[in-house]
Order: sequence, then structure tokens, then C-alpha cells
Amino acid sequence: MSNQPLVQLRDLEKAYYLGDEEILVLKNIELDVSAGEFISIMGTSGSGKSTLMNIIGFLDNATRGTYRLKGQDVSDLSDDDEAHIRNREIGFVYQNFNLLPRCDAYENVALPLFYREDSGNNHAQIMHALDIVGLADRAKHRPNEMSGGQRQRVAIARALVSDPSILLADEPTGALDTRTSVDIMNLFARLHGDGCTVIVVTHEQEVAERTERIIHIRDGRIEDGAYR
Ligand code: ADP
Ligand code: MG
Repeated sequence: MSNQPLVQLRDLEKAYYLGDEEILVLKNIELDVSAGEFISIMGTSGSGKSTLMNIIGFLDNATRGTYRLKGQDVSDLSDDDEAHIRNREIGFVYQNFNLLPRCDAYENVALPLFYREDSGNNHAQIMHALDIVGLADRAKHRPNEMSGGQRQRVAIARALVSDPSILLADEPTGALDTRTSVDIMNLFARLHGDGCTVIVVTHEQEVAERTERIIHIRDGRIEDGAYR
């Protein structure tokens, strides 16, 4: 076993181009994430939080710098290789749940497994994921038959079903009331307690304070990432 970081970002930069104009949305990002960490990324709207999450989650590419995942340089992989790693290593949770409305909870959670060639006992995996989030008895319910908090828990079960290395959640409580937000953060804390690596983007201090390390990002730069 090595103690290399799970995620290592070095001098990462993300630029957009509007005609001749270069817009730098991430600058000189240096970040190490160890397996099992519970982290929040905080910053105001437009500071670059989602861009950073999407790069960590292989939904987007940096325009410069190095990304190592488990020691492997993944900065310049093909789209196919990226999709393969994303499916295997990353679980994503969004503000608006992104569930398929016509599919029940079970079918929504099953979705990531369709893209895997080595799917073994899918039924057991799906029920296990629903059980982890406390919704095994809601397997046949569609999103519109569930509360916001239940929908987000289905989305978390979907993120967990492939047993990913990292759970990434972009404003996961942004569409929820305060009490439900606390429930969802309790769930993330429990997953972290069970060994999951969890990164949560938020602009809410109360949400960030539930994590063990708060990374502040401002105008595309990491200001500090002190451990609490
Ligand atoms: P946050 O999640 O912190 O609100 P984002 O990462 O979504 O911020 O966006 C960071 C900055 O990048 C914003 O100024 C946004 O306008 C800009 N941005 C995001 N996507 C694009 C794009 N496709 N083209 C140009 N600028 C973009
Ligand atoms: Mg965002």
C-alpha cells in the first residue's frame, strides 16, 4: 500500500476563449485529496466550484496542468478512457437530483450499471445502494412520488451503486429546506464514516462546517484548504 493521494492536481488551469479573449476560470490549482477525506469547496457564485468539480469528475478537462488519480496521470486521456474511469471511480450528485422522471427509484439507481461490462449481481448491488440511503422500501416509487430529500437520496444511491472511489456532490442541498439539508449532510457524514471519500460543493457555511476540511475558492484560485 502507498500513501499517495487519491487525487493530485498540479498547476491546473481552465480557460475559456471568447474570440480572442481568454477567460481564466481556474488558476494555479494545487490540491491533494487523500482517500477517506470529507471535504467542502466553498465560494461565491461564479468562483469556479463546478468547473473544478467537473474536472475532478472527468466531466470536463483542464486546459493546463496535471491531474493524477491514484498516482496515474489522467490529464490527457481519450474521451473513451475518461468515460471508463468516470464510470468506475466517480459518483456524482447534483443540486436538482437529475433523476429520470419516468423511471422508478430502482431503475434510476440501476442506470450506471448498464454501462458496465462486468456487472455481476446487479439486483443485490441496487438494493444494497437503496438500503444504504434508507429507501429500500421505495424502490418502486417514481421521483414525483417522493419528497426532495428522498429524491436526493435516490441520486446518492445511484452515485454509490458502482462503489466509486470518490463521491462528488455539487450543491447537493441547494434545492432542499434546512431540515432536509441536515439529513442529507448526515448521510454524507455517515458515508464518510464508512470510508467514502466525499467532496461537497456549497456556498452555505452550515453545510461546509459539517465537513473536515473547507477549501475556499475565489475568482478561480484556491485561497486556503485548512484542515479543521
Ligand atoms: P460556480 O460553480 O462557482 O458558480 P462555475 O465553475 O460554474 O462557478 O463558473 C466559473 C466561471 O466560469 C464563471 O464566471 C462562468 O461564467 C464561467 N464559465 C463557465 N462555463 C463557461 C463556458 N462554457 N464558457 C465561458 N465561461 C464559462
Ligand atoms: Mg456551480
